[in-house]
Amino acid sequence: MATPSLIDKLRQLTQGRVLMKPEEVQPYTRDMSIYQMMPQAVVMPERGEEALRLLEFATAEGLSVTPRGGGSGTAGAALGEGLVVVLPDAGDWAQLDGFVADGTGARLDVGASIRHSKVQALLREQGFFLPADVSSAGISCIGGNIATRASGPHALRYGAIDRFLERVQFITAAGETVDSGDLSTVPERLVFGLADLCARLRADRPALKQLKARAGLKSASGYDLAALAEGLPLERLLPRLLAGSVGTLGLVTGATLRAEPLERDRVAVLLAFEHLADAGRAVMALQPLNASAIEIVSRETVRTLRQGTELPATMGADAHLLLVELSGEEGQGQIARISDLLAAAGCRPIQPPSVADGEEEIKTLWGVRSRILWMIRNPSPGYRALAVVNDVGVPPAQLAGFINDVQQIFDEHAVEALIYGHAGDGNLHLRPLFDVTAPGLNDRIRRLADEVYGAVFRYGGTATAEHGMGPLRAPYLRQEWGDSLYGYMKELKELFDPQGILNPGALFTEGPLTDRMQPF
Ligand SMILES: Cc1cc2nc3c(=O)[nH]c(=O)nc-3n(C[C@H](O)[C@H](O)[C@H](O)COP(=O)(O)OP(=O)(O)OC[C@H]3O[C@@H](n4cnc5c(N)ncnc54)[C@H](O)[C@@H]3O)c2cc1C
Repeated sequence: MATPSLIDKLRQLTQGRVLMKPEEVQPYTRDMSIYQMMPQAVVMPERGEEALRLLEFATAEGLSVTPRGGGSGTAGAALGEGLVVVLPDAGDWAQLDGFVADGTGARLDVGASIRHSKVQALLREQGFFLPADVSSAGISCIGGNIATRASGPHALRYGAIDRFLERVQFITAAGETVDSGDLSTVPERLVFGLADLCARLRADRPALKQLKARAGLKSASGYDLAALAEGLPLERLLPRLLAGSVGTLGLVTGATLRAEPLERDRVAVLLAFEHLADAGRAVMALQPLNASAIEIVSRETVRTLRQGTELPATMGADAHLLLVELSGEEGQGQIARISDLLAAAGCRPIQPPSVADGEEEIKTLWGVRSRILWMIRNPSPGYRALAVVNDVGVPPAQLAGFINDVQQIFDEHAVEALIYGHAGDGNLHLRPLFDVTAPGLNDRIRRLADEVYGAVFRYGGTATAEHGMGPLRAPYLRQEWGDSLYGYMKELKELFDPQGILNPGALFTEGPLTDRMQPF
């Protein structure tokens, strides 16, 4: 809890709100993770100047600063015990302008506090969309999306938000405003430090080999060392480094995003399988389709959804489902190939494909898909679908093998798990159901997470494919990347934030994932 003198000082720094009473701070003690942390104060600077002074002050006082967007993160990264900084959805931080479209795409300037859904609504009116189309669009902010390297079902075709981030503005821990589009704003410390780090990484063959092995893996884990190894010019490197940095390198204040034309002539095909691993194998078999999305929903998840809502007829089978979205001129023509591709790979769905080709029907299917997380949270009394290993990713070619292994792990732990996710790019949301009233919850969670992540890394995978880092996954960062690449990440952090005030514990931590756990 902040002292009265700290509150006074904070109030002198900003005209915005400074919250410190327990009932005011309460909503900011949680995000969508299993954690709870009590900040000393929540500060809402109204202008760039104020945010800058706030960071200078925090550095001088050695106070930690945790940026917070919509608080929809599932890894606890928006929680802190020092100052939590929320950019209000107004003024400097909420700009949404500079829309320009050309023959191939569009771009627009956005403030960090803008809701994702607002950006999509504006783009949709103009016939475009941001392909990093998160299912948390109504609650997450662009700053948070950038900081977590977010993506959505269409990452399969388009990739994550970093692919669409042309320019980023941020404030460093030392209180410098940096605009990647104006290199005169980049402090010399960063210019030279990044050049040095880049040169050393490019000369480090074993490290490059490790990075190469991860190429193509959808991952929101750690800093983007591949961008550093590519030797990108600073104006392209900085957006890539800030993306996925979970508030540990700077406070993102604005960005220029690129958008793509809306998908046309969409068709959704539902495939039903007896075994989940068969659905996993089908993903590889269907690669020649160039689908815009391939989603997986396990039978147990479908049953849980059915308890709470009426599902579209296309989701009628009591089976593990794959939702394959095809689009563009070739979309309809591809449907006929599906059965042949599956047969050639020896994958046998239990019934012929069901096709949804009306826009309304497709929207309904995606509506169900984007609500899954809300609908499965409390599947039965006492049980909680806790976010503990909820965003793993493996190379798609390894998906079926990984599914077999992870199901075995769940069986050995006598845990039922709901499984769904973006199977096309190997990203699974695993939601083991825990009896939160039974003793030894921390221990059970730790043992299960250790084994699941062990399997993920054996398959060359990642602890987080899209939701981003945070105290939940930070304990596994070194294991995922190895000592050497982990060391480069620590150096990068020290370069940007020598005193380590920005979101400590979100990326580097020694403690187990159950520290500060408080499931609700
Ligand atoms: C129902 C549901 C569905 C979801 N679906 C998806 C999905 O489809 N795809 C996906 O990728 N994720 C998904 N998520 C996870 C989450 O929504 C994303 O990680 C999202 O990008 C977080 O944005 P936020 O604004 O809520 O950030 P927060 O949760 O507030 O913060 C997340 C991280 O970003 C940092 N941060 C926030 N703002 C800034 C800033 N201005 N500058 C620097 N750092 C900042 C925080 O410090 C923290 O480290 C889902 C979550 C839920 C609850």
